[in-house]
Amino acid sequence: MYNLSAFRARAKRNQPRLKKFLRKFNKKFIPNMLPKQLKLDKEVWQEVDCLACANCCKTMTPTYTPADLKRISAHLGISKKELFDNYLMIDTDNGDIVNQNTPCQWLNLKDNKCDIYEVRPLDCSGFPHHTKKQFDLYNHVYEQNLDKCPATYKLIEKMEKWVEEAFVW
Ligand code: SF4
Ligand code: SF4
Repeated sequence: MYNLSAFRARAKRNQPRLKKFLRKFNKKFIPNMLPKQLKLDKEVWQEVDCLACANCCKTMTPTYTPADLKRISAHLGISKKELFDNYLMIDTDNGDIVNQNTPCQWLNLKDNKCDIYEVRPLDCSGFPHHTKKQFDLYNHVYEQNLDKCPATYKLIEKMEKWVEEAFVW
């Protein structure tokens, strides 16, 4: 299993430097960023095993779309209302549909597997969204996940190394 305490300590230590790096993307355009981002993302997934981590499922909540509710309730053989009443709630800050509790009710803590993997929310299947948008358009999300997702942390460190070596800021 991934040593999440060690990860959190390292992330906390390096967070100010990496946040500063990410915020530079708000003002600067870096050429050839997308192909490099995709290449580094592939490297990250050779180094990180989500089944040894599951920190996202343990500490965060996905947001659910109406299609997620329909698919998951059908899979569980319950109504959408039962699904909502038993497990979900509205986030009063933004109106999103989210889990009532963490860790997620569908995380199997023995093996870090998702009990509803085939029908999991779109937000889960896309997480940590490394290739959803070009790096500079999504750096606010990476900043949020820097100390939560070891894969995002690694991607940002790799991007930082590449940018520092290849460009003068
Ligand atoms: S997506 Fe990130 S936080 Fe979630 S299990 Fe994988 S490495 Fe861990
Ligand atoms: S639905 Fe599955 S993948 Fe999504 S947070 Fe819950 S356990 Fe993790």
